[in-house]
Amino acid sequence: MKYKLFLLFLLFTCLGFQSSKKAPLSAQIANYDIRVKLDINQKKLIAHTKLVWKNPSADTVSDLQFHLYYNAFKNSETTFFSEKGLPSLFKTSLKDDCNWSWVEIQNMTDKYGNNLASNMHYIQPDDDNKSDQTVLRVPLPKPVLPNESIEIEFDWIGKIPKTMIRTGHNMDFYFMAQWYPKVGVYEPAGMRYAEKGGWNCHQYHSSGEYYGEFGNYKVDMTVPENYMVGSSGTQPNPPKNNGDQTTTWSFEVNDVIDFAWGASPHFVESKMNWKGIKIRLLTYPEHVHFKERYFSILPQALEFFEDNFERYPYPSLTIIAPPFHGLYTGGMEYPTLITTLNSCLLPTGVRSTEILTVHEFVHQYFQQIVGTNEMEEAWMDEGITNFYEGVIMDKIYGEKSSTIDFMGIKAGNAESDRVSYFNMENPAIAPNSLNSWEFPGGSYHTIQYSKSAVWLNTLKKIVGEKTFKEAMKTYYFRWKFKHPSAKDFVNVINEVVAKNHPEEFGDGMNWFFQQVLYGTEICDYAISSISNNNKITSSGIFDNLEECEKSEFAKNEDDEEIFISTVVVQRLGNMTLPMEILVRFEDGKEFLEKWDGIATMTTFSYESTQKIECAEIDPYHKIPLDKNLLNNSFTSKPNLSGVRKYVNEFLFWMQNAMEGLGMLI
Ligand SMILES: [Zn+2]
Repeated sequence: MKYKLFLLFLLFTCLGFQSSKKAPLSAQIANYDIRVKLDINQKKLIAHTKLVWKNPSADTVSDLQFHLYYNAFKNSETTFFSEKGLPSLFKTSLKDDCNWSWVEIQNMTDKYGNNLASNMHYIQPDDDNKSDQTVLRVPLPKPVLPNESIEIEFDWIGKIPKTMIRTGHNMDFYFMAQWYPKVGVYEPAGMRYAEKGGWNCHQYHSSGEYYGEFGNYKVDMTVPENYMVGSSGTQPNPPKNNGDQTTTWSFEVNDVIDFAWGASPHFVESKMNWKGIKIRLLTYPEHVHFKERYFSILPQALEFFEDNFERYPYPSLTIIAPPFHGLYTGGMEYPTLITTLNSCLLPTGVRSTEILTVHEFVHQYFQQIVGTNEMEEAWMDEGITNFYEGVIMDKIYGEKSSTIDFMGIKAGNAESDRVSYFNMENPAIAPNSLNSWEFPGGSYHTIQYSKSAVWLNTLKKIVGEKTFKEAMKTYYFRWKFKHPSAKDFVNVINEVVAKNHPEEFGDGMNWFFQQVLYGTEICDYAISSISNNNKITSSGIFDNLEECEKSEFAKNEDDEEIFISTVVVQRLGNMTLPMEILVRFEDGKEFLEKWDGIATMTTFSYESTQKIECAEIDPYHKIPLDKNLLNNSFTSKPNLSGVRKYVNEFLFWMQNAMEGLGMLI
């Protein structure tokens, strides 16, 4: 017994030793040490960055490329504004006060003292728009050898925008997102779609947020002493008062793809601890009463991911709930930091606080940990996140009331994605596979968020929940802290589905992805008719023209009439999916028919003493992708289509209202 205890003790000693020397979670390629001063009078960030960048490839890399996101707000001709148009809200401010913003690198040296600033220049890899200065190329006098590192330092100044999308200031609320010169992602040959090594560093567009490299951050923010700072990461030390009416706050975090922070003299701080994870909430005084809502929903989302994927791997998570005048910064996700939106009057039955919190939290896994490229394949974070938002919300609040349950009005979360997708003027306007800035007619949001969530839900139901869970878990573990492409996602799903269902889906699911991810096909199956006709006996004129066999209704030996019954099913859309059709006879007998769904029409016929009472396509609701559910069943009984239509219209209205509120999620 004692010996066993001793072994146990040894085991824990070893575990303790291992955990104190925690292995890095990622390749830690882009590592920042930033000292930044917030100048609230000039609305500027005055900063110094030390960057250590590791070459992840076997290439000799002769330049660095940086995102300078704040330059998107530098003039009316930037790619961001030419795609989006100037938001009317800012026109006065830009006209009267010349409130354009920018970021400028003032100098840059490597550790050998080489001046890197003299040859640096802006490039426009996406559209050749010379007015756009959101990507900076820095040629290196001393290239970075394979798997070696480069250490550079530079001073820079950022002019903070008046709350622009995702970032900026308004009154004395500041939110710094995509705020610092940030190195792009160097993709070695073979990674994602790279045939040879090169930088993936897109300009800042009006759609799509960011794509980031994993690394470690140490950031010191010096702010007025009455300001409180909320940030990615944890504080190694308490804030230090500098004796000049400023305080320096320090934060650090490892293995993340970005870093954001906010500051205000009005923040009210609330804290909780969930299984050792420090959760910090910063709200404005008028929103303090939302605390319970955040602290109730967030642990449930953490728990879901711990159960279905793995425990949240960072020591902290911060929520910033911006004030009304900081609305544009709400509903965003950055590593270990999320922003939400509140309205003072939001009743508990309208769950937008919970939805946003869950949504932005899911992003901690799907894009922050599985580091996909949002500029090229936004569905891989927004679609997957919207899908899991629906799963979590529906699980907690029930699928009929997870978005709204107020004054008798109910709406479900996953259902609202269907409503949003199918209420588009043209749901076939674009496939998911476009670059973020290429979506026509403002379709980016609905296609990347809602459509993807609907087809992921359909995929789950076609392959079965167990297989889907296993596939998503496999995808997560294979690609966490890496940068997968859609191709990598598809490969994992195909692999797991083929393993679990070799007879049904032995060739994988490419036929599915070809339509839902790379295509614009629309799914719509309908029961077009049911008929029950008496079978007649063999009758008419055969060999002898003088003899006519009269027709009679055919009967069985018990003298019961026999019917020939048919169900006609049509494929109205151009998407082909396997379908199940449930046919019920008047005596309650049911037949579940399977159809590959490929022809434009098929017929099921029966000979029986019973008539068909009703037939229903997709009776177990495996195909949320089916656009029109009202034509899925055919029955002699009165149907509820009018009521369903009303509910759908209401959901559509609600979805629009929610999107208006959370336009950035
Ligand atoms: Zn999102």
